[in-house]
Amino acid sequence: MSDRQNSESSAPAAASGDTLRDRENGARTLHAMSIDVEDYFHVAALAKVIRPDQWGSLPSRVEQNTERLLALFERNDVKATFFVLGWVAEKCPQLVRKIAAGGHEVASHGYSHQLIYNQTPEVFREETVRSKALLEDIIGAEVSGYRAASYSITHKSLWALDILAECGFTWDSSIFPVRHDNYGIPGSPRAPYTIETEKGHVLREFPLTTARIGGLSIPAAGGGYFRQFPYPVFRYLFNNASGGGSRPQMFYLHPWEIDPDQPRYNNASWFSRFRHYTNLDKCEHRLQRLMQDFRFGTVSQSYDAYKPESTEFSTRLTTQQMVGLT
Ligand SMILES: [Zn+2]
Repeated sequence: MSDRQNSESSAPAAASGDTLRDRENGARTLHAMSIDVEDYFHVAALAKVIRPDQWGSLPSRVEQNTERLLALFERNDVKATFFVLGWVAEKCPQLVRKIAAGGHEVASHGYSHQLIYNQTPEVFREETVRSKALLEDIIGAEVSGYRAASYSITHKSLWALDILAECGFTWDSSIFPVRHDNYGIPGSPRAPYTIETEKGHVLREFPLTTARIGGLSIPAAGGGYFRQFPYPVFRYLFNNASGGGSRPQMFYLHPWEIDPDQPRYNNASWFSRFRHYTNLDKCEHRLQRLMQDFRFGTVSQSYDAYKPESTEFSTRLTTQQMVGLT
């Protein structure tokens, strides 16, 4: 173990602030482990310096990075949900087959990684049908879960939920209950719930994790937050979000986040570089620790274990009600 890893491991327990009972409860709850399968060049933070028409000519690293994650999950006996971008599925069908063969859940991350609220409903529907069919043809099984690029289902794009249901999706994990410039529906539920869409369809929603500290919502779902916070702080926030283990939470990561050797784009803004490149070298080790501190399964396994039909968890919202949330 390196010095760096040692210093992470021995950070003061007080920083986590959780009690032994919380940890024990948290350890029993089955949280959702999810991976958004896209390459480093698909990321919104680099969109200003890499155009979609350049994607095909850039060296792809998604396959090797996803295979490292698959090996890590196998070593830890964890099944995860992989939201696969249609663009990647088309280039690497063998990777999608490998994910499914490993007993993991395959779900859709759309096709082109464009923000839904910038798309027309027609374009969104066309891409959604195309990416779902692509994955189903590759794995020979139905795909029923969806995650929007950059969590772009917001007040402006709730219409997308009707299209998802009409395309045959039964659950979604795109709504971040935080206030943020580019995504989020502040005030929306922080535990799995059901949404009744404008046209009367019903979708299960598994929101992205947020902790509540001093009245503030703090994102603690994974990705950049996972890399930027010291690990004990992230663990505390994740445990706080789950109410000490009383409700399952959603963790997410991208394959490029465990890849410190990816090409660097020094012409991106300082903030974009900070968001994209911070602690890439620590991430895989942290993920290993997270899987020791909490129990994880696929999104569907986690939702089912939660028994959302019991009264306490039966939050049901209409999209009309969601428009009113602030
Ligand atoms: Zn994405």
